[in-house]
Amino acid sequence: MCGIVGYIGPQACADILVDGLRRLEYRGYDSAGLAVYDGKKIDVVRAVGKLQNLVKALRERPLEGSLGIGHTRWATHGRPTEVNAHPHVAGNIALVHNGIIENHLELKRQLQEQGVKFASDTDTEIVAHLIHRETQAGSDLFDAVRKALGHVHGAYAVAVIDQKQPDRVVVAKNASPLVIGFGEGEMFCASDIPAILPYTKQMLPLEEGEIGVLSKEGLA
Ligand code: GLU
Repeated sequence: MCGIVGYIGPQACADILVDGLRRLEYRGYDSAGLAVYDGKKIDVVRAVGKLQNLVKALRERPLEGSLGIGHTRWATHGRPTEVNAHPHVAGNIALVHNGIIENHLELKRQLQEQGVKFASDTDTEIVAHLIHRETQAGSDLFDAVRKALGHVHGAYAVAVIDQKQPDRVVVAKNASPLVIGFGEGEMFCASDIPAILPYTKQMLPLEEGEIGVLSKEGLA
């Protein structure tokens, strides 16, 4: 298990994301990270160990922006190191994932044959590259996530942001939990209700196999 939190809206999101991750600590984790869009690009800060280490890293390198995703990782594939911590980045895409990609070896080999270079030993990074490949081929983020997940066998909850489409967070789930939170001109997602309860009481669990697009206007 691990924790996912996502935010889109008018507020600076780094503190909201860290606060949400803190409320998911009970799920267990070995490392943590955030990806935030600053108006021009997505920046990532990650740290091994307790959330306090991430908070310290963020003090040295603050992430400013109001679109972001956060993650506490419980390593299944790849050691608990900073490069294996989420979010994982592929080109314009940043992604957090909870679960296990069963066919990761086969997918990784196919991507490597196409020249993709991997930065981590995780199963998760594969999904980031698959989504990136689809956006390169012209898909919007929703379609890119849908097509990428079509290749994937396994359990997942994912939250994805795209530097080139910074008006949305795309979320999807299959056999791992994810709830959507509705605010006024802002939207949240998280692995569990307590993470976002201080911000909204209006929540909806994402259904099996569902893909959702969170924007300031709501859920589509
Ligand atoms: N399988 C992924 C990894 O090892 C995600 C683990 C998790 O759910 O935290 O990075």
